[in-house]
Amino acid sequence: MIINKDWHEKNRMKKNPSFNERVLWHLSHAENCPCRGMSESIKKEIERRKQS
Ligand SMILES: [Zn+2]
Repeated sequence: MIINKDWHEKNRMKKNPSFNERVLWHLSHAENCPCRGMSESIKKEIERRKQS
């Protein structure tokens, strides 16, 4: 699996992120790194936000 290690080093997830923080992290992550780490609930929320 390809991982953008530099991005991950600079964008560590907080210990107790809120749902919104996780969504924002994943939005940025998806643009910068090809590794897969998105849960279904995050995917659905991002889709929902794109539509509104
Ligand atoms: Zn990644």
